[in-house]
Amino acid sequence: MDSSPAGSSDPGNVGDLDGMGASGDLDAPPDLDDLDALADLDARIAGCRACPRLVAWREEVARTRRAAFADQTYWGRPVPGYGPADASLLIVGLAPAAHGGNRTGRMFTGDRSGDVLYAALHDVGLASRGTSVSADDGLELYGVRVTSPVHCAPPANKPTPGERDTCRPWLVRELELLRPTLRSVVVLGAFGWQAALPAFAAAGWTVPRPRPVFAHGARVSLGAQDGPSARSVELFGCFHVSQRNTFTGRLTPAMLRDVLRTAAGAAGLTTRPYDG
Ligand code: SF4
Repeated sequence: MDSSPAGSSDPGNVGDLDGMGASGDLDAPPDLDDLDALADLDARIAGCRACPRLVAWREEVARTRRAAFADQTYWGRPVPGYGPADASLLIVGLAPAAHGGNRTGRMFTGDRSGDVLYAALHDVGLASRGTSVSADDGLELYGVRVTSPVHCAPPANKPTPGERDTCRPWLVRELELLRPTLRSVVVLGAFGWQAALPAFAAAGWTVPRPRPVFAHGARVSLGAQDGPSARSVELFGCFHVSQRNTFTGRLTPAMLRDVLRTAAGAAGLTTRPYDG
């Protein structure tokens, strides 16, 4: 199975993970101003090693693997955002899953959360297929990009505030590069919400004070800081597509489709009615 995400460097293998730290690897997010293409950012992020705890965890998981995936080569590195560089709708999650994105090398790919998210995107006409199993499965997103404020899989799905802050420059640069086309954002869960607001402020949008509180269905306009001709973005809150939320019915497919359809409308994207 090819687990190399499109646009990123070769995933190597478990043996290669032992040798990481050689040329191309980064002990901290570098000065990212020189990166003026999203594909370059996506490729560069895969070499980041700025968070020792997360580096150790992602590589340990890649070595030991889950029994069901024992014959697969895990990606075991930071997972870049996925979707076109001229996306007008951005979906912001939390962090890659240990045996999902950390295995396949693509956001929300290879786990139950991704199944829910991409099924909903396909239902409303924003994805070419409703499943996301590997980086080479042919999935295309239409006007939509998916990213996260933390790009490495954390133990227990819980990055620390320090890790969130260390990873922020990657999200800020991603937002800056998307800025010419970005019109709306769906943030999945409170952690993503709290991480995204300062990133938007750093990337050139005005975040209201006091900071808006996360809620499912929340909608906030973030004005552009640099003049009336600059475009604002609409920020939407949505419960995370975690198994806990979807198994308990806290977030239903219909609720997710509703948020995606509203956010797509704010982004000027055309969706289709869902009749399933
Ligand atoms: S979480 Fe972000 S900053 Fe930390 S090592 Fe991964 S990519 Fe680098």
